[in-house]
Amino acid sequence: MFMNTPLLKRVLCLPLLLGLSVPAHAEWVNRVTDGIMGTRIIVELWSEDRPKAEQAIDAVLDEMRHIDDSMSTYKPTSEVSQVNARAADGPMRISKELFDLLVTAKEYSVLTDGAFDITYASVGYLYDFRKHVRPNETQIDKALPAVDYRHVLLDAKNQTVKFSQKGVRIDLGGIAKGYSVDRGIDVLKSLGVTRAYVSAGGDSRIIGDRFGKPWMVGIRDPRKGEGKVITEIPLTDAAMSTSGDYERYFVEQGVRYHHIIDPHTGHSASKVLSATIIGPYATRTDGLSKTAFVLGPEKAMEIYNRIEDIDAILVKLGGTVIYSKGLEPAKVRAPATK
Ligand code: ADP
Ligand code: MG
Repeated sequence: MFMNTPLLKRVLCLPLLLGLSVPAHAEWVNRVTDGIMGTRIIVELWSEDRPKAEQAIDAVLDEMRHIDDSMSTYKPTSEVSQVNARAADGPMRISKELFDLLVTAKEYSVLTDGAFDITYASVGYLYDFRKHVRPNETQIDKALPAVDYRHVLLDAKNQTVKFSQKGVRIDLGGIAKGYSVDRGIDVLKSLGVTRAYVSAGGDSRIIGDRFGKPWMVGIRDPRKGEGKVITEIPLTDAAMSTSGDYERYFVEQGVRYHHIIDPHTGHSASKVLSATIIGPYATRTDGLSKTAFVLGPEKAMEIYNRIEDIDAILVKLGGTVIYSKGLEPAKVRAPATK
C-alpha cells in the first residue's frame, strides 16, 4: 500500500483552508473495505447527497466482488479456475469480460518482452508466501516449460480459450486489481461522480481533482514502514500502480522470496525494489508494474519511455530513485522557475 493517510487527511482539508466555495451539504465520503481480491479497497468521492454516495460505493464494491468471483484462483468455482482445470483438454467458451482481459494480458506480454506473463502461475502456484512454501529446483525445472503466454490460444470468433499443452495455468493477480479499479471508476462515472479516488491494493485511479488541487499520492519507501514515503506524486485524472518486493514475501537464509515471478526462471524477480507506473488506466499501469522486476531498471525504463502515455518511478536495488523521461522535465524546470 502506498497511500499515505496523514497526507490524504491534510489534502482533505484544503478546500476549506483555501476558502473555496463548495455546496452546503457536499462532502468527501470514503469507505475502506478489506477482503475483496484479498486486498484493501478504498473508495472516496465528492458528493452532495450522502445516501447516493454510499450507494455508489456499494455499486463499486459489488462490481469488484463480481470480478473476484470470476477471476480469483483461490475460488475453485471461478471462471479462471475452470479454465485452469479444462482448457488444456480443448477450446473452452468463456465470458466476454474474461476473454477481453486475456487479450489485454497477452498484449502486455508482447509489450514487455514476456516479463508480464499470466502463465507465470504454471510455476507460481507452487509458492505459498504466507506459509513460506517454495518449490525446489527440480519442481521448477519440471513446471517451467508450461510458462509462456503463447501457450494461451485465444479464438475471438468463438470466444474460446485453449492451452496448447498440459500443465499450463493462468493467474490474473498481476492485472485484475487494476482492471477492477477501472471498472469501479466506470461505475462511478456512470453515476455522475466527477471527483473520486478508487484503489485496490497497489493499484489506484483518480477522476477529477480536489478543487483546483491535484490529489497527492505517496510512493512508499520499499524498506521502511507503511507511512514512510520516498516521494509524493500530484495526480489528476490518472491511474497509478506500485509493485513492491515487500508486499508478499518471506526471507530464508538471507534470500527474499516474493510474489513477482520471473517467467524465464521461475524464481522471484528481484532487479528493483519497487516500480510505480503512472498512466491513464489502472489495467495498463498494473500490467506494466511487474516488468521492471523481471527486466531490470534500464531495460524496463526503455519500454516505459517508448509508451507515450506512461511514466515510471523505479527504486533500484541500492535505493536510488529513477524517473521516466516524462517526469524529468518537471524536475529540471523546478529550480529554473524560482
Ligand atoms: P498487487 O497484487 O498488490 O496489485 P502487483 O501488481 O505487484 O501487486 O502484482 C503482483 C501479482 O502479480 C502476484 O501476486 C501474482 O499474482 C502476479 N504475478 C507475479 N509475477 C507475474 C508475472 N511475471 N507476470 C504477470 N503476473 C505476475
Ligand atoms: Mg497490482
